[in-house]
Amino acid sequence: MPFDLNRILRPHILTLTPYASARDEYEGTEGVFMDANENPIGSITPQPYNRYPDPYQADLKQKIAAIRGVHPKQLFLGNGSDEAIDLLIRATCTPQQDAIILLPPTYGMYEVSASINDVPLVKVPLTPDFQIDLAATLSTIEGHPAAKLIFLCSPNNPTGNRLCTDDMLRILDVFPGLVIVDEAYIDFAGGESFVTRLVQYPNLVVLQTFSKAWGLASLRLGMALASPQIIAILNKLKSPYNISGVTQQLVSESLDNLTSVEKMVGEILRQRDRLHDELLQLPLVRHVYPSDANFLLVKVQDARSVYQYLVDRKIIVRDRSGVKLCEGCLRISVGTATENGLLVDALRKFEMASA
Ligand code: PMP
Repeated sequence: MPFDLNRILRPHILTLTPYASARDEYEGTEGVFMDANENPIGSITPQPYNRYPDPYQADLKQKIAAIRGVHPKQLFLGNGSDEAIDLLIRATCTPQQDAIILLPPTYGMYEVSASINDVPLVKVPLTPDFQIDLAATLSTIEGHPAAKLIFLCSPNNPTGNRLCTDDMLRILDVFPGLVIVDEAYIDFAGGESFVTRLVQYPNLVVLQTFSKAWGLASLRLGMALASPQIIAILNKLKSPYNISGVTQQLVSESLDNLTSVEKMVGEILRQRDRLHDELLQLPLVRHVYPSDANFLLVKVQDARSVYQYLVDRKIIVRDRSGVKLCEGCLRISVGTATENGLLVDALRKFEMASA
């Protein structure tokens, strides 16, 4: 069955008249602007922030699109990729009626956003080595015609690994709804991004973020890459000025500095390997899972106590030991050389104290 976006969207979204902002109605940049109820005098800050920013971020999208090899109309920019996750659910899932398929353990916001929108979840756990259970996923797809979205997080959070490409493609081939491939950690992974497959799959949405490799988590900029038809729907739903002018300007400037991103990623990958090796030397560490991301999932003896010991020394990691298939695991973000040294030292001291 060919993909039909109109069948996937909630009926009232198709006919919705979106809010038209002042900047929608007049797009010019010069003139006497008396249309947006802004403060004409200036700002309370030394920098002028008194005018609303471009609601569709045209300049910024132009630059990002060139780097990612897509058309600007294939790009939605959100206040973090979390905004895109929420909008995709709101656009497609009627509460208490449609459904979302998740492959846990995975990023927690998919479930939270689904719950906020009162959309039921169907969960197909990953295999013990954190890959897609293809047979179970395909039969779940077949058994749940009301499923509108499936989230594939690759590299996956909190497990750190990429999902098998062939399995992801199989899902793209058979799932009648939108397949959302979350590539928040793609810059730390080898291999190709699914962005190159957008032309082939009208049901594909790729999520990426500036919060990780680019080091811009505080600016809050995430993106969805998809067909122009899907992007037009997200634009229809978003709040008018969802990306601040400061964010648009700072990210735009940072896009001229791609070599710095590459250098930071290179250093994080070196630190990831070093941390991996040093953790493996510690008797309390039972397993360090292979990572394609900027964090390591580490199985330790007595995870709760190790977590608390680290917190008492002001070293904060994520306790994932309560998550199914991650029993006994801590998720550790790769730090600087100094931070990684402090962590490994503290773990050695924990071992000595409990010997
Ligand atoms: N996807 C994944 C897999 C993540 O781990 C995160 C953040 N931890 C996000 C999306 C959200 O990123 P942001 O909202 O900062 O773009």
